[in-house]
Amino acid sequence: MDYQKFFADNLSDIRQSGDYRIFADLEREAGAFPKAVFREGGQQAPVTVWCSNDYLGQGQNPDVIAAMHEALDACGAGAGGTRNISGTNHYHVLLEQELAKLHQREAALIFTSGYVANMTALSTLGRRLPGCLIYSDAWNHNSMIEGIRHSNADKRVFKHNDPADLERLISQDDPDAPKIVVFESVYSMDGDIAPIAEILDICEKYNALSYLDEVHAVGMYGPTGAGVAERDGVMDRVSIMQGTLAKGFGVVGGYIAASADLIDYIRSFGNGFIFTTSMPPAVAAGALASIRYVTGAQHLRDRHQERARTLIAKLKAAGIPVMPTVCHIVPVLVGDPILCKQASDALMDRHSIYVQPINYPTVPRGTERLRLTPTPLHTDEMMDDLVTALVDVWGDLALK
Ligand SMILES: *Cc1c(COP(=O)(O)O)cnc(C)c1O
Repeated sequence: MDYQKFFADNLSDIRQSGDYRIFADLEREAGAFPKAVFREGGQQAPVTVWCSNDYLGQGQNPDVIAAMHEALDACGAGAGGTRNISGTNHYHVLLEQELAKLHQREAALIFTSGYVANMTALSTLGRRLPGCLIYSDAWNHNSMIEGIRHSNADKRVFKHNDPADLERLISQDDPDAPKIVVFESVYSMDGDIAPIAEILDICEKYNALSYLDEVHAVGMYGPTGAGVAERDGVMDRVSIMQGTLAKGFGVVGGYIAASADLIDYIRSFGNGFIFTTSMPPAVAAGALASIRYVTGAQHLRDRHQERARTLIAKLKAAGIPVMPTVCHIVPVLVGDPILCKQASDALMDRHSIYVQPINYPTVPRGTERLRLTPTPLHTDEMMDDLVTALVDVWGDLALK
């Protein structure tokens, strides 16, 4: 086999379909977010970032940066091992306590990323619970899909955000089989939110564990930023809460929070937890400082929502096709992969605005879009510039 030709041909296919991904070379500027420096072909230019998942700008919060400096100077660069072999630092312990408190759970467990948290928790539970059946929302994130796949458990996919379809499936299965219902609160590509209480009703009726990914909600929803389940007053009914330290909290890492025994179980049997070096102490310290800050920062959550609503109103007034959204994520429909890439390029080249095109397989073909994430730090002026730029690009490319 000609391996190199195989790789090159496959890459050429995705280039032609418009699905080839190009990463923008950015240098974020602490203190100036959402501004960054963009580099290309030996040139550099300032840009305004409109697609960051640092939803609250916590990546530049002075408390977070100071905590990271302090831990870095005190403990050094790396953790020094896996959690079991000399790699449990005091900051890890404090961070897990803080997360358990945030979600009002007996315990929490941290992972190197939210992806690894989903992969590990779901593959471990699905593999080890005898005859386990997993019910997965059709739009679940790849990290959950892969976790379920690696568990080798039987999977049933229910229609997106459709409790009736979930019940239709779950009611046909053996009432005594162990079951896990896996879903998200905020779905980040469309900006819709799960009917959490109704899904939990079904979990309770059929004695299933509930596994809720609140990656796009932690820090941002609920009176203490614990997520949509907290906002809806149902957090205590969720068996396993999962989140990230990378998005609303602005650092990196992932976690689950649950009963003490369930957490101890994943700690004891989860390969993606056991066989990898733990996160650097400075990262744990930064995440800890961020959670402590965000928990009390209702003004940040209020401003975040207000910014999203203001942007939606401005886009609608200018005739830009905003997709329906009930959260802080503002998707704008393009509906074609090549045009989506061209729109993104034109925004960057002509207007110094960076919005990554979102194409297949992240979203279904024909729904390619620009996904805007206004943060508390995006000003009215930045929004007006964005709207003007979008109107220009829409006219130029004759988009709908
Ligand atoms: C980003 C994301 C993850 C992964 O979290 P990371 O901390 O970035 O690895 C998990 N679930 C969902 C829904 C996500 O969007």
